[in-house]
Amino acid sequence: MRVSVILPAAGLGTRMTPGHTSHTSPKQFLELAGTPILIRTLRTFAEVPEVTAMIVAVRATEMERLTAHISEHGFADRVRVVEGGDTRQESVFNALKALNCGEDDIVLVHDAVRPLIEPAVIRRVIEAVEKHNAAIVGLPALDTIKQVERTADGAIITATIPREYIVQAQTPQGFRYGLLRRAFAEAEADGFVGTDEASLVERAGSQVFVVLGSASNLKITQPGDLELAEFYLAHRGNSH
Ligand code: C5P
Repeated sequence: MRVSVILPAAGLGTRMTPGHTSHTSPKQFLELAGTPILIRTLRTFAEVPEVTAMIVAVRATEMERLTAHISEHGFADRVRVVEGGDTRQESVFNALKALNCGEDDIVLVHDAVRPLIEPAVIRRVIEAVEKHNAAIVGLPALDTIKQVERTADGAIITATIPREYIVQAQTPQGFRYGLLRRAFAEAEADGFVGTDEASLVERAGSQVFVVLGSASNLKITQPGDLELAEFYLAHRGNSH
């Protein structure tokens, strides 16, 4: 059984540097304690013996820079680069189409901008997929969760959702290749665009299991997140 990893990294990172778009460095290339975020993420997956291949989806304009980065850091033989799309889903689909997998092989999708994922968690996802065919990392909600209606005057609460029913979806999200391909094909046929892979697999009628995540597996999205990631890194006491 092979395990391939897809790293969508084609976002513009406009929430990281508000007011800036294509002229600034996308967040996946920002450095975290001296190493580009994406390289840190690749390193962690490279440490997991079950992982056989990695594929990164980036904007066309970043392909050259990334390819250079990858060889510079010694990953040239294990990592491929493909062009991403306008949505995360399109980026992942492009990478998925470029994979050469058997039906039962495992595909993990991981946000390139979650560099603090730990090898032990990746392995727990792989084990859960071997058992259940689909599994993601999720973090139980600590806050009370409200459903709201957005109005011109602001948000109005319409319901309180008991938090024992809530987990916040993180990545990696892992699936059998055949199942994920079918879920993507169905979503494309129906014009459905989701913000994660599990939502596509759920709507295709399959159960998706949840593996416990941690707050340190944060998605570097907005100003301040980089400092928070540096804090977690220092606290962890290694230089990954
Ligand atoms: O935008 P969001 O926070 O969901 O981004 C999660 C991941 O998806 C990031 O690593 C980002 O680079 C990637 N992404 C992508 N293609 C897009 C948009 C986001 O690969 N069009």
